[in-house]
Amino acid sequence: MFRRRGAKTDTDPAINPNRTADLYALTEEGYIIAQDIGCQYELVNAERCPYCGNSLSTIAQISRAYQGLNELVALCGICSERHSYIFDISNAVYQEWWASFMGKNYVRLYEGEPRKPRYEGK
Ligand SMILES: [Zn+2]
Repeated sequence: MFRRRGAKTDTDPAINPNRTADLYALTEEGYIIAQDIGCQYELVNAERCPYCGNSLSTIAQISRAYQGLNELVALCGICSERHSYIFDISNAVYQEWWASFMGKNYVRLYEGEPRKPRYEGK
């Protein structure tokens, strides 16, 4: 949905070349499925403030890796409304992408089961 046309997936290390159709789906808990770090910023950059329609600026990244989550906090430059986006990074696609970077240094911080997308009508 937010995948950029002509994105440099071969050279941009922030983008997982193995993204799947589950990207940006919601988990049972309502978290947004992330499959790399780049997609999280792409989503926030594409969002608009629901109050005034202005674009948002990411002002903080809160690692909640021990919960299998990553949070981005964004601020509207016009009305100063704060918005929080909580991404699931426990899923297998993200963890495999991360492990490929970390190699021997890969440590799984979240001990629960990988979250799965919620499918409608279930
Ligand atoms: Zn606003």
